[in-house]
Amino acid sequence: MNTKKIIDKIVKTSQGSIDDLVNILHSNCDAYLFKQADQVRKKYCGDEIHLRAIIEFSNHCRCSCSYCGINKQNTTLDRYRMPPEEIIDYAKKAYISGYKTMVLQSGEDPWYTTEKISYILQEIKKLGDIAITLSVGERDYDIYKQWKLDGADRFLIKHETADKALYNSLHPHSSFKNRIKCLKNLKELGYQIGSGFMIGLPGQTLETMAKDILLLKELDVDMAGMGPFISHPKTKLKNYPVGSSYLTLKALALTRILLKRPHLPTTTALEVTNIKDRENAFYTGANVIMRKVQPYKYRKLYEIYPNSTIHEKSIEEERKEVENYIKMIGRKVSITRGDSIEL
Ligand code: SAM
Repeated sequence: MNTKKIIDKIVKTSQGSIDDLVNILHSNCDAYLFKQADQVRKKYCGDEIHLRAIIEFSNHCRCSCSYCGINKQNTTLDRYRMPPEEIIDYAKKAYISGYKTMVLQSGEDPWYTTEKISYILQEIKKLGDIAITLSVGERDYDIYKQWKLDGADRFLIKHETADKALYNSLHPHSSFKNRIKCLKNLKELGYQIGSGFMIGLPGQTLETMAKDILLLKELDVDMAGMGPFISHPKTKLKNYPVGSSYLTLKALALTRILLKRPHLPTTTALEVTNIKDRENAFYTGANVIMRKVQPYKYRKLYEIYPNSTIHEKSIEEERKEVENYIKMIGRKVSITRGDSIEL
C-alpha cells in the first residue's frame, strides 16, 4: 500500500500496525499527513486552543533520569521549593488572568507530603472553577486516590519511551513496569491522564516511535505531550544531538489521526528547538499551549534542558500575547476548562 493510502486507512479506521506507522514516519509524505491531521483536529477538537498555566513548583528530585537537568546527581544546580502559600497565590494570579487549568509540576520531591499536596489542591479549588493537573511523578495508588478526592482532575506522567530496555537504562531508580502501572492506576481512579515521549532519545528508532504512539492508544490517553530530546550539559546524555522537530511534528500528526481525541500541546521543548515549529504544530494536530506562571527567579532553575527563551513579562502580558497569537493564526481562544474530548 502506498503511504497516502495508509494515512487514509488510519484516518478512517483509527487502526494502524507498527509497519504502517514506520512507513509514514519514514516517508516524505508529510504535507499530506499534516493536512489530514489538521482536518481530524478540526473535526474532533474544533478551532479552539486551550491555554494552560503551569507552575513548576520544585526542582528537587529523587530521580536519576539520564536526560534530565534536574536529576539528583546534578550538584551544581541551585535547588528551590515554592512554599504552599506561594503556589496557591500564583494559581490565583493565573486564574485572574484567565487560565482555567493549573498544571502543578515538580521533580519527584517527597518534601511535598501527601497532606501538603492535598492542602494545595483544596485551596486552589476554592478559587473557582479550575481544573488541576498534577505532574509530580510516581506515587502509590492510595496517594493518587487521596489527591483525586482532594480535587485533582488530571495527571501527567509521560511513559518517555516504549522501549522497555531503553526506559530501564535511562531510569535506574525505577522501571518501565512501574511507570505503566502508575498510568493505569490513574486511569482506574478516574483521572484524565496524560502520557507522552521524547523524540530523538539516543537508541530510539522509528519502530520505537511507532510503538510509542501505539502505547498512547492502548493507554487511551486524554492528553499526550511529545517533544524533542534536548541534551543538557549536566547529564549522562550531554554529548548527544538534539531530537528532530520535524519528526516531532510527524509524531504529533500521526497521534492525531490514530487517536483522534487527546489534547495535544505544542511543547516547550519544540518551541526551544525551533520556534517556527511551535506554530507549525497548530497545523499538524496540536490544540493546547502551556505557559509558565511561577516567579522568574524560579524559572531559570527549573532547567530540565537548556532554555534561553526566557523573557520577563507579567502573567497578564504573556497571556495577552498568546491570545493575540492564537487569533492571528485564525484560531479561537478557549474559554472553557478544556476537559477530555469524548468520541
Ligand atoms: N517528575 C515528573 C515526572 O516524572 O513525570 C514531572 C517532571 S519531568 C522533569 C517533566 C518532563 O520533562 C519529563 O516527562 C520529560 O519528558 C521532560 N524532559 C526532561 N528532560 C528532558 C530533556 N533533556 N529533553 C526533553 N524533555 C525532557
